[in-house]
Amino acid sequence: MIEVLRKIVQAVNDADDLAQALELIVHEVRAAMQTEVCTVYLRDRGSQRLVFRATEGLNKDKVGAFSLGIDEGLVGWVASRGEMLNLDDAMAHPSFQLVPGLGEESFNTFMGAPIIHQRDLLGVLVVQQSDTRRFSDAEEAFLITISAQLAAIIAHAEVTGAALAMDAPSQEVSRIQGVAGSPGVGIGQAVFVSPTADLGAVPSRQAVDRRQEMRAFRSALARVRDDIEVVAENLREELSAEDHALFGVYLSILDDSALGGEVAALIKSGEWAQGALSQVMIKHIRHFERMEHSYLRERAVDVRDLGTRVLTYLQDDAETRSDWPEHTILVAEEITASALGEIPRERLVGVVSLRGSANSHAAIVARGMGVPAVMGAADLPYNRLGDRTLVVDGYSGRIYVNPSQQVLERFQALMDQDLALTEELAGLRGELCQTLDGKRIPLWVNTGIIEDLVGAIEQGAEGVGLYRTEVGFLLRDRFPSEEEQRQLYREQLETFAPAPVTMRTLDIGGDKSLPYFPIQEDNPFLGWRGIRVTLDHPEIFLAQVRAMLKANEGLGNLRILLPMISAVEEVDESFALIRRCHEEVLAEGYEQPLPPVGVMIEVPSAVWLTGALANRVDFLSVGSNDLTQYLLAVDRNNARVAELYHGLHPAVLGALQQVVDAAHLEGCSVSICGEMAGDPRAVPLLLAMGFDQLSMSAINLPRVKKVINSLTMADANELLAELVGVHSSHAVIRLAENLIERKGLGRYVRLNRDNR
Ligand code: PEP
Ligand code: MG
Repeated sequence: MIEVLRKIVQAVNDADDLAQALELIVHEVRAAMQTEVCTVYLRDRGSQRLVFRATEGLNKDKVGAFSLGIDEGLVGWVASRGEMLNLDDAMAHPSFQLVPGLGEESFNTFMGAPIIHQRDLLGVLVVQQSDTRRFSDAEEAFLITISAQLAAIIAHAEVTGAALAMDAPSQEVSRIQGVAGSPGVGIGQAVFVSPTADLGAVPSRQAVDRRQEMRAFRSALARVRDDIEVVAENLREELSAEDHALFGVYLSILDDSALGGEVAALIKSGEWAQGALSQVMIKHIRHFERMEHSYLRERAVDVRDLGTRVLTYLQDDAETRSDWPEHTILVAEEITASALGEIPRERLVGVVSLRGSANSHAAIVARGMGVPAVMGAADLPYNRLGDRTLVVDGYSGRIYVNPSQQVLERFQALMDQDLALTEELAGLRGELCQTLDGKRIPLWVNTGIIEDLVGAIEQGAEGVGLYRTEVGFLLRDRFPSEEEQRQLYREQLETFAPAPVTMRTLDIGGDKSLPYFPIQEDNPFLGWRGIRVTLDHPEIFLAQVRAMLKANEGLGNLRILLPMISAVEEVDESFALIRRCHEEVLAEGYEQPLPPVGVMIEVPSAVWLTGALANRVDFLSVGSNDLTQYLLAVDRNNARVAELYHGLHPAVLGALQQVVDAAHLEGCSVSICGEMAGDPRAVPLLLAMGFDQLSMSAINLPRVKKVINSLTMADANELLAELVGVHSSHAVIRLAENLIERKGLGRYVRLNRDNR
């Protein structure tokens, strides 16, 4: 069954559009189940009716021309209840309804399964036959399995097909939903980037100069041939003549009489070399993958390998892109910090990542840069976008492909409003951050890239609560030397001196993997992360701490922060190494006291150990991004569970209060540096809990200051008191938003973000 399923899913995945995908489904399912009829009904979003969209065995003339109400007939019964129905005598069922002209009179055995994607009913998959027998349990299970697998493919095909249609019938369908990653709106041209050669990720594009494209293709081909001939030569001794001859066969795939000729023909017809190569290769890879014989099926791997080799040379030869559109929207399967750094900042107006979620590090970097971002946009047909216009709505997490004039105007107006608001808030820069009744609360920033520094100072930050040192490591192709690190850290410390700068030691692992130090794990967020890596590699830790101490010479504003602490031993071991570094730099002639050292509270065990940790260190900082992920068991990087990720979950709030109380009992100061600190709805609660500083992305700082400066501590305490006995995140959010609205602060917070 797995093999049949694999084949059907593969075939449907390869379809060019939804209509073709549905045709394939009915054809393949009917054959696999050996029934007489297989039909797909899809729910029309506008009319809410179930439209007869594809059939094998009934009257095809009715396809698209006939529909049922959502609870009409047996199909409606399945749709409205979201349940399977298996009948050996369909006519006897009270919901049975004969539709003249469909040709189903003689098929009295009926089985229907709902097609549901992410709780949303997409349609119904039906099989019918004339002999009176009940479909078996195994057949039921097969239909349910296939409809569950096809749901995601149908949903994807529905969205991408509609989004790409230039004459999209309504705004609804050219809209793709992802996860809000960084606030703001960007309108610009999509540019897809891929870190490694990927045949599936090359957009179709017209060649600017066909001859040049042909030359590039020929040269890439010649280099791949040379490479393979070298390998073949090296293996001559070790392989039998027969095996060796396989290299010849392998190479001949690229000949002009084979795939090479097809690519050349496409280039001649106007496609650019990379596009032509990828289209031809993918067509043949699919062809091989569909073959029955396993030996032939495996040849798909050879074709893919050859294609990827040629593409790598083509991409290497293409000059590094210097012609970024004036308004570039960067699209990538997974946005990396280096991709963000490649584009001139003034041209980058938006970011779209197919993977990741709101608290992925790429989203945090985008927020740091003040670039609107949508994450987890898995349905975006990225390889068919070309250079189309996109609107990126970083408030609601939506992307509009080929936006109509009306949509463009709506978002342009929103951008104008944002600009006016930014200018208005800029007036707060010189003001102290304090509540109306005089409670001071220092606002700090989180930094990582150089752009953060500029933004932070402009926004009037009073210090750096979290400098993510790993960003400097991610942008290189090897570990930075101690001296390179010293210079980097010196820049941060000097920019903010005498204000404090909290430097976190290297926090890699999870969704942050260094290209030159890959960590492959099944469960990376529970694996080798943060302090666990650097304690296992003291040479990395020691070099980093020495660089920090040296950078601090003559300034004295450094604070060192340890990430991912889950046990006191990790703190003790880290302290021993830090003291050793301190002695070493003193011996080298530097003069400075040991800087304050703190730990992050971002793992549940650390919440319960707060007292013991506070006893050992100078300060604590809560990493609510990870703490939320670990307390709620929700991967912060997974868009599929983004709806479950709530910093304002009562369990998270309870843990935060526990941390503040336990820290203060030991006389230890405690800040919060997760993204929650920049959420104006959470801010009154954090104030009332007693956090000593809030540290956030610079972009959120003005709004947070506006909120704090418009409230009294009594307002904040009242809100916290209202939460006693409230057990749902949604209820907490409602109460927090009510306060914001009551104080007339809604427009600074964009609470109405989903109503646009
Ligand atoms: C956190 O986990 O809240 C945090 C600030 O660290 P990071 O987002 O870098 O994991
Ligand atoms: Mg963290």
